[in-house]
Amino acid sequence: MSETTNRRVAAPVDVGRLTRSYIWPAVPKDRIAADGPMILVSGSGARVRDVRGKSYLDLTGNISRVSSLGWGRESIAQAVYGQLQRLHYAGQGEYQADVVFELAAKLADLTPGELEVTSFTESGTTANEAAFKLARAHLQATGRKPRAYKVISRWNAYHGSAGGPLAATDWNGLRAPSEPGTPGISLVPAPTRYRSQLRPGAPADTATYLDCLERQILHEGPELVAAFIAEPVMQAGGVQIPPDDYFPQVREICSRYDVLFIADEVITGFGRTGEWFAMSHWSVEPDIVTMGKAMTAGYAPLGAVTTRREIWDALPVFFDLHTYAGHPAAAAAALAVIEEYEQHGLIERARVSGEHLLKRLRALERHELVGEARGVGMWAAVDLTSDRSMRAPVAPELVRQVMLRARERGLIVGPTGSAIELAPPYDIPLEEIDEGIEILDQAIEEVERER
Ligand code: PMP
Repeated sequence: MSETTNRRVAAPVDVGRLTRSYIWPAVPKDRIAADGPMILVSGSGARVRDVRGKSYLDLTGNISRVSSLGWGRESIAQAVYGQLQRLHYAGQGEYQADVVFELAAKLADLTPGELEVTSFTESGTTANEAAFKLARAHLQATGRKPRAYKVISRWNAYHGSAGGPLAATDWNGLRAPSEPGTPGISLVPAPTRYRSQLRPGAPADTATYLDCLERQILHEGPELVAAFIAEPVMQAGGVQIPPDDYFPQVREICSRYDVLFIADEVITGFGRTGEWFAMSHWSVEPDIVTMGKAMTAGYAPLGAVTTRREIWDALPVFFDLHTYAGHPAAAAAALAVIEEYEQHGLIERARVSGEHLLKRLRALERHELVGEARGVGMWAAVDLTSDRSMRAPVAPELVRQVMLRARERGLIVGPTGSAIELAPPYDIPLEEIDEGIEILDQAIEEVERER
């Protein structure tokens, strides 16, 4: 790449002009007024620089858990650049780019078991929407369930920001402005660590949650229920790792009622939990898997939905057309990202470095404010509590205080309900993990002292 095309060195920026509200960020306005907008200009590895020249250690995976590989990865930028020069567009119908076929073949190798036919989208939301469509179309086309249209999701789920996936989302009041939304979507409670969704203080009792799912299928009418969707590890409330016996039995229940099981691996897919796909932790093969984020490590927008050949074969055609779905530059980014994962053993590295991360975070449990530190692979959460005996969650404002204190000290972490969430790049040096946790420790201590 020539010097003129390489814009890694950001041009000087007129901060006043940028902050004059020409953009509509998804943040409450009073927060922007109080904290100022965070305008980022350049990054390298786990470090990112803002418009005022301040540098931060980013332990959130490029803010939205997308970047498994950190900022400024030359090999991926080069792959995107080369693809844009060679063939920047081909569409999704009769004409398609070779690189998209290549990526689909690669996904067939990487996804669990018999999952091997892919349709690409440009986001996780549209991948989930495609999964809902696919489940309905399959069951109707085969005649097994000609009227099936309903989808069952879970309390606190996040599946996307529009349409069916938004209706299947149950987090932070995000759904409210779009209600009544897509019909036929209902929710069941999910097992959570530390705090039960059902009764304060109750343990994660797998049987109860499985019973809720089975009863909901019966209640909605099994002949009308097309799919059940779940994040293998739920983000809301901070990295909610289910009990080991939950998903294998979910699989059985879905099979029993011919309900297609959709695993939403948009966050967990491509190594975040130390496996290529998180469902492999429990040797469970879903009927459909959706992906996004770490497939391109944030270097280009891409989503995908992959299923078994038999599900695809039942359909004469599957119309899921978006102008920018499966963009060749994004497919090239994904192939380059996967090559990095494979060449440098980064999925295994995420697992091993994740153990270090969790061990260090557990030391924070000495704070009265910290109820539990938990994690899997390179994804961890520090759950804050106002009352350890009751495991009462702290107010979101307090979590925000911790996040802001950390930010003042040059560390970016994410607030998620009552928890602070971390999702570092897979190949971050361990010293940088230690450095970040040191800062988080100080931030928690400060907020605790002032409470
Ligand atoms: N599913 C999950 C589990 C997610 O975390 C997200 C994004 N946070 C989505 C779906 C939606 O993906 P996107 O924002 O790319 O539409």
